[in-house]
Amino acid sequence: MSACLRVHDFIASSTSNGPGKRAVLWLQGCSLRCPGCFNPQTHPSTGGEWRSINELMQMITALGSEIEGLTISGGEPLDQAEGLAALLHRIRSETRYSIVLFSGYPWEVIAQTPAWFECAKMADIVLAGPYIQNQHLAAGLRGSANKTCRFITNRYTQSDLDRLPDAEVWIDLNGIVTLSGIRPVKAEIYGPTR
Ligand code: SF4
Repeated sequence: MSACLRVHDFIASSTSNGPGKRAVLWLQGCSLRCPGCFNPQTHPSTGGEWRSINELMQMITALGSEIEGLTISGGEPLDQAEGLAALLHRIRSETRYSIVLFSGYPWEVIAQTPAWFECAKMADIVLAGPYIQNQHLAAGLRGSANKTCRFITNRYTQSDLDRLPDAEVWIDLNGIVTLSGIRPVKAEIYGPTR
């Protein structure tokens, strides 16, 4: 079977998930289960939908110059390292998009795990480490203070992250509301979400 990824959600345009306007891909499945995680619906590895790498590349490249990059979040992206590496390799070799990668694994563990490091080194920025409730931060793309931000390339600096808005709300043509950002607004204010 060709490479594929189990996807929780995809949005074509966000300004709160990394520098500039970005597509965001949330992968389904997380083995870490951090207490207090904002995104528990992404935890089961049985949810979401399988998407081939070709399909994902078509969705992303169809956005052309409307976006400057792709952010990959979850769920835990590195739990799907094989498919993720295939996607990141194609992004790197076929586009000029930047890549922001979130992971709940600490950087030291990523760096010592060849399949995970292979993915991390293709990103521009890696936000690494589990969410720890009593170190809650919600700033500069870090949900908690223990998380590290590693700039793999020199494309961005910390000041690019410091300028990001904390939260975003999207309402699609069907009235579906999606909340995102490092400090998402409360769902009950805006009604049902997915
Ligand atoms: S790694 Fe991320 S998605 Fe997984 S439980 Fe922790 S905060 Fe939630």
